[in-house]
Amino acid sequence: MRSYGETIFAEMTRLATETESVNLGQGFPDTDGPRSLLEGANRYVLEGVNQYPPGPGRPELREAVARYRKRHHGIELDPETQVYVTVGATGALAASLLSLVERGDEVLVFEPMYDSYAALISLAGGVRRTVPLRRDEATGRFTLDPGELRSAVGPRTRVMIVNTPHNPTGAVFDADELEEIAKVCRENDLIAVTDEVYEFLTFDGLPHVPLATLPGMAERTLSISSVGKTLAVTGWKTGWVMGPEPLVRAARTVNQFLTFSANGAYQLAIADALETEENWILDQRDALQRKRDRLAEGLVEAGFDVRPCEGTYFLMADIRPLGFSDCEELARALPSEAGVAAVPASAFYDHEEEGAHLLRFAFCKRDEVLDEALVRLRRWH
Ligand code: PMP
Ligand code: GLN
Repeated sequence: MRSYGETIFAEMTRLATETESVNLGQGFPDTDGPRSLLEGANRYVLEGVNQYPPGPGRPELREAVARYRKRHHGIELDPETQVYVTVGATGALAASLLSLVERGDEVLVFEPMYDSYAALISLAGGVRRTVPLRRDEATGRFTLDPGELRSAVGPRTRVMIVNTPHNPTGAVFDADELEEIAKVCRENDLIAVTDEVYEFLTFDGLPHVPLATLPGMAERTLSISSVGKTLAVTGWKTGWVMGPEPLVRAARTVNQFLTFSANGAYQLAIADALETEENWILDQRDALQRKRDRLAEGLVEAGFDVRPCEGTYFLMADIRPLGFSDCEELARALPSEAGVAAVPASAFYDHEEEGAHLLRFAFCKRDEVLDEALVRLRRWH
């Protein structure tokens, strides 16, 4: 792990704090999740739910997860054997990749990619192969080229990590892209590990379609999600793995020795809120869509070229119209020069030059915070 230093999120949040900047770097909301969720956790703690929960998770949460996957996506899961609770999606990704990847196995990831994938593949002794998401000239979207996907598959390829809605681009894979991914998995006998932490944050009426719902995919997909983005409590670090019994069992075997179990009282509060706070979840999505627009318009006024964003907390902005070409240099200078922090997109690339002209901005902030960032950016340039 020698090549892995401090994560870009920790570095940018530290810089933002030191310079009293508006932090549009690390993706966390600056308002809390629904009141009933917070009160629920409080109540369960005071009622004495404070000892180890069962390793696979509280049955109440596993059942609530199975029910929402059925309600929203028509997926049938046995909560006993096909849902497993972890310490965040991060814990779920770790347990999944450590259980599926043998030394020397190749793992396909789309580039740009969320930072923990590369590190976890290394921890598992795997080798990552990246497939670029490229700018579609007509729409400006980040899209997948089926030819590039196919040519990345080799005899040692075993797993594909599929993140949609996608961090950092804000792209949501469309039906054609998902079908291509599914076809490549089926034809090459790959296991898909999906990262769906933004499953409830798609905009403009776009659906979130879990890869596991495509033909032939349920039996070869481990689906991962977590509470952080769904209920705006990123610090609660509670996630879940869902899928066929043998794959979930494999992740469970590994996780017994990673964290054993996850925070119990919170699991009960989350189970309640997944049922009772559906309207809150929809309202949050709509509010985030408006925030996306607010930030995008302001960034365009400030001189950036903003890429389309279909979901998540994030949008990508091209810095070249402002006369810059090195996003790392700019991201490190921006907090002290402008009082705003963002994340350099190169941090999400193996081929860093591909992202060198992009900054990732988070819009999961109060409107007045976004406005303050925009005032500062206009004053700066
Ligand atoms: N995957 C993606 C794509 C993310 O953006 C994040 C950050 N929240 C995670 C996983 C980690 O999720 P958690 O906080 O539930 O571990
Ligand atoms: N998911 C958050 C982001 O992309 C960061 C999580 C973290 O700090 N590791 O900004």
